[in-house]
Amino acid sequence: MSIPSCEDFSRVAKSSGLRSETIFETPAGPLLKLANGSSCHKPAVLISAGIHGDEPAPVIALLNLLNDGFFSSENFDWQIYPILNPTGLRKGTRENAEGIDLNRDFLDTQSPEILAYKTSLEVVKDSIVMSLNLHEDWEAKGFYLYALSPDNAREYGEAILNSIGAIGPIENSENVDGHPSNNGLILPLEFVNDDSLSDGWPEAIHLYRTSPHIHFTMESPSCLPTDTRADLHIQAVKTVINLIGSID
Ligand SMILES: [Zn+2]
Repeated sequence: MSIPSCEDFSRVAKSSGLRSETIFETPAGPLLKLANGSSCHKPAVLISAGIHGDEPAPVIALLNLLNDGFFSSENFDWQIYPILNPTGLRKGTRENAEGIDLNRDFLDTQSPEILAYKTSLEVVKDSIVMSLNLHEDWEAKGFYLYALSPDNAREYGEAILNSIGAIGPIENSENVDGHPSNNGLILPLEFVNDDSLSDGWPEAIHLYRTSPHIHFTMESPSCLPTDTRADLHIQAVKTVINLIGSID
């Protein structure tokens, strides 16, 4: 499947009952937020992808979920940012066109993309019950998760990983990027409170510190075929949304 464009998301959002809002215009297209709008008193679920332009599978996964009507559920106030780095996605680079790694730009923000994103988050931050950041990892051999949560992180994380086992491998390294990993699950809560992150705050830390909630960063291994990586993300998102959907 070819890499989706911002225009693809605008078009599909309309037929899925979501409203698309341009929060910033880039030379490669609009930075879009898709939302169902009228349900602002419902719990908000934030899903983002494409902050690294060389990681297309999560973007494809979100377009497929939209096409399948997954976000037509009225149970949540959906806050979906399908391509946070349009210029990077067009060029196939991790960074944006100005060479900034947007996922390290959340503390002393330099890029207009992340400035617009942070501003957009202000209106919804207090009602977020779950956020999911979808990524790929070029060094991984299997799918894995970073989980940040006051509770449920292990339970939900294990459920996600169990659900994807039939689609692709789970990362079995005991150490991923310096974090202890247990069968694909990393619980780096000490990292959240570390003010000395040397190479800048990622999105996950910004989201979690703005308002603690259940957060997963989902990483698929770039060595697998694109469709498989997208399928891993689709299954992982479905599993965890169904889990919180069943909570009263
Ligand atoms: Zn990434």
